[in-house]
Amino acid sequence: MPMPAVEAKLLEALEAMEIVDAHEHLMPEAMRLERPVDVLTLFSHYTQRDLNLAGMSETDYRRLFDHDLELDERWRLFAPFWNLIRHTSFSRAVSISVKHFFGADDIHDGNYRELSEAIQDGNRPGLYDRVLRQACRIRVCLTQCGQTDLGSDLLIPVMPMMYPVGTWANLNRPEFAPEANIRTLDDYLATRRAHVRQIKREGTVGLKMIAMPFQPPDRLAAEEAFSRLKSGAVADLPVFLPPGDRVTNPLQNFLVDEMLQLAAELDLTVAVHTGYWGDFRRLHPLHMIPLLERHPDVRFDIYHLGYPWVREALMLGKGFPNVWTNFCWLHIISERCAAEALNEAIDLLPANKIIAFGGDYRIPVEKVFGHLTLARGNLARVLAGRIRAGHMDMERALYLARRWLWDNPRELYRLQ
Ligand SMILES: [Zn+2]
Repeated sequence: MPMPAVEAKLLEALEAMEIVDAHEHLMPEAMRLERPVDVLTLFSHYTQRDLNLAGMSETDYRRLFDHDLELDERWRLFAPFWNLIRHTSFSRAVSISVKHFFGADDIHDGNYRELSEAIQDGNRPGLYDRVLRQACRIRVCLTQCGQTDLGSDLLIPVMPMMYPVGTWANLNRPEFAPEANIRTLDDYLATRRAHVRQIKREGTVGLKMIAMPFQPPDRLAAEEAFSRLKSGAVADLPVFLPPGDRVTNPLQNFLVDEMLQLAAELDLTVAVHTGYWGDFRRLHPLHMIPLLERHPDVRFDIYHLGYPWVREALMLGKGFPNVWTNFCWLHIISERCAAEALNEAIDLLPANKIIAFGGDYRIPVEKVFGHLTLARGNLARVLAGRIRAGHMDMERALYLARRWLWDNPRELYRLQ
């Protein structure tokens, strides 16, 4: 079925538009190039969920990426599952990328070797430039890979806001300052604050947290927990009671609040994972409301629209001026849901509060193109519908798209 003319015209304009990729986990290119890759590498991120759901064992899944085994043997493990998962949005990003970069309509017994050679052949310096800049027209990616030295002006770091605080080792020698030998809660806070200032000087534009049900901060309770871990009165303080309960580690509650204050002070945006991941009940977007209220000066970037609680996440945007709604990852969780949510977001939110794209990949950078193609398709479809309904003309539609893909992430993260 041919695409309606207005949608095709929008798509063409979107493909020419330079964008900010608002969320990735990409590491420096040199680290990706060190790894052997093949066609199965394209199934190493997110699609493992679908393979697992379809019945692939954890052991077989790990074998897919064990390069000590022959590619043929690994392909035979994978092949029966491809027909079962190929229509999920996670997989559609693979198919689109394979078609674009390697000209293949499908991945099958007849071409997996050839595709694998082509992917390995592309695994050389300039890969990120070819995929991200040339194919995707991405100017910069905000990336979370736990480091600030990224080796390219294509990548801008966002760093973790939360570190484990469940054991004495976590406090005494935290990941962010393993040599520190911290003895008091004030030491810990001072070291952590200095670290955040340091990573900001190194180019960090945001801190990332997850939407757990934090309780209000209680300094005394945090001091007491610190002392109990230090003295060995308790060996560890888990973060949670069983699923559904609130965060029970008073250190975590206290430190989250302190870090949010620091983010406001340093003008760092706070990105928040909401929804889908593991036992996603723990990551409900509505857990954020007390923090949104307590920290009106912090800019919160609500990732993934809280899938499956998309409408609740949109309501955070409708209810709180310090919330931005970020569609990163969502187009490949469900392409359909992302389109419907985007349409609803136009009804609900000012044009400056929507961020339309973040690829959310780590190793298989090629898939950013597939994901972006789904996202552009969604934008074109939704905006074309609005044009046909007489709500806006082409110029207004492209104004919205430019805001969602370029101006908004730049403003939110204070990018130059
Ligand atoms: Zn992510």
